[in-house]
Amino acid sequence: MKMNTYNTNILTNINMVFMKPSQRMGPVGIFSFLFIVYGWICAWPQADASRQPHAPLNSANPREISVFIRVDDIFMMGSDIQPQEIDAFLGVAEKHKAKVVLATIPNRLLQKTNRDAKMAEQLRDYIKRGHQVFQHGFNHKCPFTGDKGMEFYQPKISNGYTKEQRMEKIREGKQMLEAVIGRKVTGYVGPGNDGLYIKPDLESLSELGFLWLPDFETSTTFIDHQQGHFINGLEYTWALKDETYRETMDEAKSNFLETIKEHDIWAIKFHDHFTRKNYNNGIVVRWFDELLTWLDSQPDVRAAYCTYDEYYAKRHTEFSAEF
Ligand SMILES: [Zn+2]
Repeated sequence: MKMNTYNTNILTNINMVFMKPSQRMGPVGIFSFLFIVYGWICAWPQADASRQPHAPLNSANPREISVFIRVDDIFMMGSDIQPQEIDAFLGVAEKHKAKVVLATIPNRLLQKTNRDAKMAEQLRDYIKRGHQVFQHGFNHKCPFTGDKGMEFYQPKISNGYTKEQRMEKIREGKQMLEAVIGRKVTGYVGPGNDGLYIKPDLESLSELGFLWLPDFETSTTFIDHQQGHFINGLEYTWALKDETYRETMDEAKSNFLETIKEHDIWAIKFHDHFTRKNYNNGIVVRWFDELLTWLDSQPDVRAAYCTYDEYYAKRHTEFSAEF
């Protein structure tokens, strides 16, 4: 839109410059000419601004932005906030035709969380509804130190996991999840700070069949890698309170607007148990609904919510998450 106005001005100005003197209209014409030249000079920086990697925003032909939504810690250990399920959050996603990626802790399937195989049944149901399951560590707890902020990588101790041992454990977790959902698990999210130390294992994780390692860095990253892409989203709703609702909402919106200046993808991250219906009267569920309503109302772009598998399949026609 801006671009069109700018081009029209330029064309008008160029026509004026190349007019024969007889075609000009005396002092009024000269004044108009100077005025337009002044306008042209003022408008000049817009020519640089338009040299973005993408076409200018245009509500008649909105640009598609692939939006990834991820919830980590499915299902969190030791939280007394019920219900454990994140159906309310997924219900909001589905209202907006959005997909959610659930970074799931495999060991929960062996614990009381999966009493009566309820968790397994829920995961299958989420998949049926079009959402995706990623692997999130194995147990989200280091067996050597008891640290729940890291699992496989403990730089402070010398007798932790060897590379072979951690790959074996990650493979075991992957197989557990795949046996339950009946699909390939194509993404791995390191628990807590593990993501910061994952670099030496990138190739091994890729060999295990992971295409996505989105927490490779803590900042928002869009790194092309021969094994896949790393798209990390920021989190705004950790321990969300009424007092921080508005401020975090504004931050998320401006992060979206900033990111799409250079990219056609945007990711955002949440955490179980904050996404549960009864966490602070469902504050994160409400926040999520408001954000998606805002995203859907953007005039110049269209938020195309997708799972990583859908995104990948569009670009690699041979890919299938089916066995
Ligand atoms: Zn986690």
